This record gives sequence, C-alpha cells and structure tokens, in this order.
Amino acid sequence: MGTIVCQACNSTIDHFEDEKVTVLYSKCKCCDNHQAEEEV
Ligand SMILES: [Zn+2]
Repeated sequence: MGTIVCQACNSTIDHFEDEKVTVLYSKCKCCDNHQAEEEV
C-alpha cells in the first residue's frame, strides 16, 4: 500500500493502492498554504 505523507508536518495525507510499499511526499492543504514558497 502506498502512503502520501506531508513533507512539512509528517502527517499522513492519503493512501493509495500499490503493489509495493511506497511513500510519496507532498504537502497537506494546511502546509501548502502556509509554506508555499519553501522548497526542499
Ligand atoms: Zn502538513
């Protein structure tokens, strides 16, 4: 199962079906609004 994790606050945003265990980093809406200009 794949997991989408917020790279800013490490909270789990969503899950998706996948054969492998996969973690994708994204931003939740809260952090996306808060740190829109900050990139890693
Ligand atoms: Zn967040």
